[in-house]
Amino acid sequence: MTFGTTSVGSPLAGAAPVTEDEIRSAGSLAARAVGVTKVYGTGDARVNALDGVTLGIPGGRFTAIMGPSGSGKSTLMHCLAGLDTVTAGQVFVGDVELTRLDDKRLTRLRRDRIGFVFQSFNLIPTLTALENITLPMDIAGVRPDQAWVDTVIDTVGLRPRLRHRPAELSGGQQQRVACARALAAKPEIVFADEPTGNLDSRAGAEVLSFLRSSVREMGQTIVMVTHDPVAASYADLVVFLADGRIVDQLPEPTPDGVLERMKGLDR
Ligand code: ADP
Repeated sequence: MTFGTTSVGSPLAGAAPVTEDEIRSAGSLAARAVGVTKVYGTGDARVNALDGVTLGIPGGRFTAIMGPSGSGKSTLMHCLAGLDTVTAGQVFVGDVELTRLDDKRLTRLRRDRIGFVFQSFNLIPTLTALENITLPMDIAGVRPDQAWVDTVIDTVGLRPRLRHRPAELSGGQQQRVACARALAAKPEIVFADEPTGNLDSRAGAEVLSFLRSSVREMGQTIVMVTHDPVAASYADLVVFLADGRIVDQLPEPTPDGVLERMKGLDR
């Protein structure tokens, strides 16, 4: 079965739109990639990290991007989030075409409309948990919506830890601070890059449960890159990449279902 620029036949229940025409016209999508290619290097060192990716990210849903190592997952996420430029094609967040923005506007869009969660937490060690959570808004000069920040803090279960510095928190707690930081400014979309990569399975499950409940209960849109079938099973939809192309999608995933599809992709 081929996805990407090709039609899927019968659309899967809950699957993202997949044809280029569907995606071009799908204004309700939180983000879109249309015919995106990304080439690194030249000559013998040339790598087609993304090879014509067309993908719609539905709003208010949890989408996981999976694929073997080197399949282009991180590159796709970085291009969708405006952290990296594309070689060809278009990327949209909402109706704004990122691929037409200059650096200044792109930085502002990332700051105002996108939240990030990284594998390595990226917390500021000298700030408390609460200060870390509100830092992006402080930098942007935006007054936090206190009721919303309180909701996020309570949902993530951090209330008793707000005055602690990162070194006084477990890995799972630090990542929950990072998730709260990503959600506190009510971004249109949150990108999470292997958010459970540095956590044991229990702490990972807590973080994934929180991400999922932020989608179900708060209507957040999340895109998560992972290579872990269990992590992917928390999503509403899994998109599979291989060799820089989208090769499959799986709505309502289970760990076994994801593992099964991954077996077909591993080289
Ligand atoms: P994944 O996240 O699925 O492991 P990546 O997106 O990191 O895959 O990489 C896709 C391909 O692009 C790989 O072949 C990788 O070696 C290559 N690549 C990624 N980043 C760079 C870079 N900065 N320079 C050169 N090649 C890169």
